Amino acid sequence: MTAETAKPPYSRTRPFPGKLLVNRRISSEDSGKETRHFEISIVGSSFHYEPGDSMAVYPSNDPQLVNEIIQALGVSGNETVPATKTESAPFREALLHNYSITTPTPKFLKAIVERASATPLLGDLLDPSRKHDLQQYLWGMEVIDFLVDHPSARFTPTEFVALLSKLQPRLYSIASSLRLYPDEVHLMVDVIRYESHGRMRAGVASAFLADRANDGPVPIYPAVAKHFHLPENPDTAVIMVGPGTGLAPFRAFLQERQAIGACGRNWLFFGSQREACDFSYRADLERFKADGVLTRLDTAFSRDQAQKMYVQHRMLENAAEIFDAALRRIVREQGGKSVEEANAYIEKLKTDKRYKRDVY
Ligand SMILES: Cc1cc2nc3c(=O)[nH]c(=O)nc-3n(C[C@H](O)[C@H](O)[C@H](O)COP(=O)(O)OP(=O)(O)OC[C@H]3O[C@@H](n4cnc5c(N)ncnc54)[C@H](O)[C@@H]3O)c2cc1C
Repeated sequence: MTAETAKPPYSRTRPFPGKLLVNRRISSEDSGKETRHFEISIVGSSFHYEPGDSMAVYPSNDPQLVNEIIQALGVSGNETVPATKTESAPFREALLHNYSITTPTPKFLKAIVERASATPLLGDLLDPSRKHDLQQYLWGMEVIDFLVDHPSARFTPTEFVALLSKLQPRLYSIASSLRLYPDEVHLMVDVIRYESHGRMRAGVASAFLADRANDGPVPIYPAVAKHFHLPENPDTAVIMVGPGTGLAPFRAFLQERQAIGACGRNWLFFGSQREACDFSYRADLERFKADGVLTRLDTAFSRDQAQKMYVQHRMLENAAEIFDAALRRIVREQGGKSVEEANAYIEKLKTDKRYKRDVY
């Protein structure tokens, strides 16, 4: 095989085995949220991505939940089952790596109704006219709940996996620039944990990263964001609105703009619950400000005052300025003008009294 015909070694169906380098909580312990910063080595991946792109993380399931399912079905876990369209695997391995074992599929619910001795409510809820009621009923309910609640519904491992959907990768906005970090990718993740029906639950991928990725590979592959990149012209001003983990891609934007010495102004709106415990990447943002990369930072912490305050309130307070920046961009992009030409054009609109601002 020649170099030209050689396929790249990694793909969406064959993700790169990343190595977790850093797994750090960045919201404080008394925050209502568990926000974490991850750094994953991508050495040897040949990955290329742009700020704004995401990384697909291919999680595996919680082994404890897998054990509980195996136990509830009364089987050993060593039975051979289909794992993919072409491959088989021991039941336990397939539950760990190939199937979604939390969210019940319609097929699974139907099979429970057919096989369990008494499920009048669920049977009714499966009627298409009760879709909304079914959704409410299912909130916080997982596959394991149905198996435990309806022991009379018996399935062989092969029957069981046929009722599940495929375990899907989850996307996370890339929070670092390749120019600054060519060997690693950074992610900012809110870890999902909650209690329902007397059981602690966790998001599959967020808890995989937080709890189970330290020892083994973290399978990843980049996903291009078609409509979410920095403007090509480094002089173009950017307004970024990133509440919560929405900040992640803008950390990459700012790193990139710093790395290339871009002159465009960068204005960031960030919001979260409480400044004292939820101001993620505060040190990074303060450094960007001190270095002059972040021209302006407006924050909104919803729970720090009696009246809830969100980023959109901060934006409204600055509506006139945002509109002005947006107008300049429209003139530049739609009018095919340079920054200087666009500024001159708007000045002319003002002197001709064709552009009026209501500033107060
Ligand atoms: C382009 C893109 C970029 C993204 N970037 C980021 C990012 O940078 N950071 C980030 O953290 N996320 C990001 N996400 C979201 C991320 O992909 C996952 O959806 C998220 O982490 C949850 O995945 P999970 O596997 O942990 O949870 P899952 O196992 O998928 O579970 C999530 C489900 O749990 C249920 N649930 C959650 N809370 C409760 C509750 N209190 N009670 C009952 N049920 C509940 C809901 O049904 C919810 O849909 C992004 C998504 C996209 C599409």
